[in-house]
Amino acid sequence: MAHAFTTTRSPAALKRRSFLGAAALGMGAVGMWPELQTFAADVQDFLVGPPVKDIPPQQVSKHVWMIYAPDGFPTPENRGMMSNVSFVVTSAGVVILDSGSSLQIGQMAIRMIKKVTPLPVIAVFNSHFHGDHWLGNHAFVEEYGTQLPIYALAKTIETIKGIEGNTWRLLMERWTNQSSAGTKSVAPTHVVTHGQKFKFGDVDLVLHHYGRAHTDADLCVEVVQDKVTSIGDIAMTNRIANIDDGSYMGTFKYYQAIKAAAGAQLWLPGHGQPAKDLLDSYGQFMAGIWEPCLQAVKDGKSEAEAKALVLKDPRVQKRAKDMQGFDSNIGKYTSLAYLEAEKEAF
Ligand SMILES: [Zn+2]
Repeated sequence: MAHAFTTTRSPAALKRRSFLGAAALGMGAVGMWPELQTFAADVQDFLVGPPVKDIPPQQVSKHVWMIYAPDGFPTPENRGMMSNVSFVVTSAGVVILDSGSSLQIGQMAIRMIKKVTPLPVIAVFNSHFHGDHWLGNHAFVEEYGTQLPIYALAKTIETIKGIEGNTWRLLMERWTNQSSAGTKSVAPTHVVTHGQKFKFGDVDLVLHHYGRAHTDADLCVEVVQDKVTSIGDIAMTNRIANIDDGSYMGTFKYYQAIKAAAGAQLWLPGHGQPAKDLLDSYGQFMAGIWEPCLQAVKDGKSEAEAKALVLKDPRVQKRAKDMQGFDSNIGKYTSLAYLEAEKEAF
């Protein structure tokens, strides 16, 4: 992949931090050449994209708030604001449930949190390794210090620390025309596991993980007192979910398991508005892709025939118009369903 900074950059979209100008002038005056060279090499580290516009938080329940992203995909216009940042206001401080797609989005979230409560952020949870759910970690560490615990499943941390973490950072810069520049890849610091319980002041959290769904490490966080569960990307309201790293069968199993364990909840997704029937409604759509593919494989039909069946399925047709990313992704995600069905059937 080309380095993001080799692509055309809009000067208006970037600003240098103020001390850069001052330092450059100072160095010119005293002529400190070795320092200047070091400085020049570091200049790219100081290019920072513009702020993201404020989105007033919406209260979801007694303790839970959501900073809502209307768009499901990153663009230069939305500067990467494509996924919800949710937070829990406890008597002990604020707990973040997914930190957004960039330093700038994390900073916007911090501005919004300060309008709701004077309490500091005391913990961050990242649902999975896709960059729109954790690249904002940088802002929270910058504001609240590197001792701030950032929790995630082991596989999520491992993947972010590997090549995938930096790839997401660079992709976000490219998709937003460098608006997210300045964002550093800050991996979660603390491993959590399924069933783990946390108490933050007056709020209890229970963690859930039931195998591969959207990725091989999707953490769901149940806010016990509120009957609200943050589900990352295992279901979405306003866009089609990326299934490249996921599994259809795994997703259905995950839904069953978490519904059995948590009971009735307001399901709070990373994309779109929360809903009590979200696992059922998104599950219906997924089944509309999966079941025709499985049947096609069993009947010895081709992938092209399976795709035609999927597009005719009423559960899929019902969502085709209102779901962001449907037209550009349904072909690929049907192929992935067909491949998985072939493995399942034999
Ligand atoms: Zn995702």
